[in-house]
Amino acid sequence: MSENNNQTAIENCTHDCSSCGASCPSRDPASMKAPLNEFSSVKKVIGVVSGKGGVGKSMVSELIASTLQKQGLQTAILDADITGPSIPQAFGLHQSLRGSEMGMLPAKSDSGVDIVSVNLLLENETDPVVWRGPVMAGVIQQFWSETFWNDIDVMVVDMPPGTGDVPLTVFQSLPVDGLIIVTSPQDLVSMIVTKAINMAKMMNIPVLGIVENMSYLTCPDCGKKISLFGESHVEEVAAKNGLKVLGQIPIDPALAQAVDKGAIDNLNVNYLDGALDAIKALN
Ligand code: ADP
Repeated sequence: MSENNNQTAIENCTHDCSSCGASCPSRDPASMKAPLNEFSSVKKVIGVVSGKGGVGKSMVSELIASTLQKQGLQTAILDADITGPSIPQAFGLHQSLRGSEMGMLPAKSDSGVDIVSVNLLLENETDPVVWRGPVMAGVIQQFWSETFWNDIDVMVVDMPPGTGDVPLTVFQSLPVDGLIIVTSPQDLVSMIVTKAINMAKMMNIPVLGIVENMSYLTCPDCGKKISLFGESHVEEVAAKNGLKVLGQIPIDPALAQAVDKGAIDNLNVNYLDGALDAIKALN
């Protein structure tokens, strides 16, 4: 389309992009990114996603952020799982977020992770969030743009599960440098995880690899590894999609207890070393 035709199309815009070939600025994916506020700095953004809920996505986000923070990187978590926000509880945070001249101030975990979550804004933590997709997406953009993110080396975005409206907006509006896909053994069989991988590919977001959670159980008496859900298919699914396996986490009562007690920061586990290395290797 020539420059003149393009200009005419823009002037006569009906907002129906499906039947229009004009190359408007609003079609440039870069223009859809939400800006940080002027006082904030975030070097790397890592999205943690899963095909469905309950596979341990938040747990992986928490362990990655907490471990990187203890290793000396300033880390943050943006809890984008608006309807199932479990991050503050895992870190034992229950106070309300406060504002400042520089923007909203994140809560700080014991180790120093900066955390923003809708649960830190609700009057009662048990109040349900009953919002439509665009409202949730707007809140996530506000968390990004209106928080004072003070010199963050790595921000972990705990994404809502699935491939719906909200993950789509996050992918479009936040500058995600890489994704970590969390899955459970059953999830792999059901191919839900492949949908999440394919969504990332469609959005041109690099996938750093797959973490399999609840992979096995170690018998407390004899130490034998029991594959509760049958043999793992994670290597196979990863290879098929050209991805790396970044870690396998067993079902570990110590993990569940730490979350319940709000003490995830006190845990030191090495199940996710592969994921940490992949994040640190990002330039
Ligand atoms: P998601 O974010 O995918 O919905 P969560 O991280 O909230 O899932 O995990 C769901 C529940 O399972 C939480 O109570 C969490 O403590 C527990 N959990 C997750 N992974 C493990 C594990 N490997 N061992 C024991 N409990 C786990």
